[in-house]
Amino acid sequence: MKTVEETPSDTNAAKPLQALSGLTFPELEKFVVEMGLPKFRAKQIHSWIYAKYAETFDEMSDLSFELREKLKSVAKIPLLEIAHLQVSRDGTRKYLFKLPDGKIVESVLMVFQDRDSLSACVSSQVGCAVGCTFCATGYLGFKRNLTSQEIIDQVMCIQRESGKRISNVVYMGQGEPLLNVENVIESIYTMNESVGIGARHLTVSTSGVVPGIKRLAQENLPVTLALSLHAPDTQTREEIVPITTKWPISELMDALHDYYDATNRRITIEYVLLAGVTDFPEQAKALADMLKDLHCNINLIPFNPVENLEGVVQYQRPSRDAQNKFKLIAERSGKTVTIRLERGTDIDAACGQLHNVFAKTQE
Ligand code: SAH
Ligand code: SF4
Repeated sequence: MKTVEETPSDTNAAKPLQALSGLTFPELEKFVVEMGLPKFRAKQIHSWIYAKYAETFDEMSDLSFELREKLKSVAKIPLLEIAHLQVSRDGTRKYLFKLPDGKIVESVLMVFQDRDSLSACVSSQVGCAVGCTFCATGYLGFKRNLTSQEIIDQVMCIQRESGKRISNVVYMGQGEPLLNVENVIESIYTMNESVGIGARHLTVSTSGVVPGIKRLAQENLPVTLALSLHAPDTQTREEIVPITTKWPISELMDALHDYYDATNRRITIEYVLLAGVTDFPEQAKALADMLKDLHCNINLIPFNPVENLEGVVQYQRPSRDAQNKFKLIAERSGKTVTIRLERGTDIDAACGQLHNVFAKTQE
């Protein structure tokens, strides 16, 4: 005799398959209940997806054949499709994901030879509205926000494809996470509760969306905030990070102090080194002065060449010597200053190089 849960049902036959990867536990529970299944099925499916990286229902060996067939008729596991995968000489893997509406985003798996832990860099939007003058995503313009499920499934797709466990996630792919703050916050909770990556292992990078910083601080999560400062003076910052006119540097600094007070998490200050624009010794000194009282680390990012829409590379990376000089002066702040080690430059997976022919031809 068939149990209730194994009774074939064709009422959902015409609907598109519901993707389960990236859903929260309560959402999975809702899904199984709506299918007329007992709640404990959600626990099994959750564990197959998040702990065992299952890609198909056939792998779920503790579910009966009939139940697996029934699930297959209404659902699938991955939400995103891997449209392309590139592997760099240094082991970095860049994934091009096709979203359910056909749009494309990118994620990067960073492998460090000297560490066991793996980091994934995820996108939070398709394109970006901020329009920083040195960033390939900025050149694309804004297309849409990603849902929390789309953010989570980037990490899950990478884990399924690589078979490796990701221990850190940085929201530094395409998009401005704090202009999609509610979905990003939801994804942070799901990273914690389902994917199994604690908030201490998450970094959200922002170009300086003050209301978003305040909103994130309200959650009181120990997430690291990275602020893309890029210039200590208003004039230069307005030129290269256009939202500076909306949220001035002084408001930004106040929001960073408040973020530290709320979360006790040291801020990461990101600073792109553009030759002849942001690498002057006076700027290094001004940077050191303005950061003295902030609990932070400073991360200098030498510019990665990207072409703008006219095919022109607008900026240049400063010489090694100039980079080191800037670092020495910035260290007068008493903070740890590092020059970012670039990953995957040969496959355009480094900071600001996240763009692709697919995205360029969309809309
Ligand atoms: N929108 C967020 C997160 C994505 S960008 C933000 O701006 O913070 C991640 C980091 O890469 C940011 O610090 C960004 O300024 C930097 N970046 C963008 N384009 C770059 C380029 N061409 N070279 C070096 N760094 C770049
Ligand atoms: Fe957007 Fe960040 Fe690129 Fe600026 S640097 S355009 S905020 S993705």
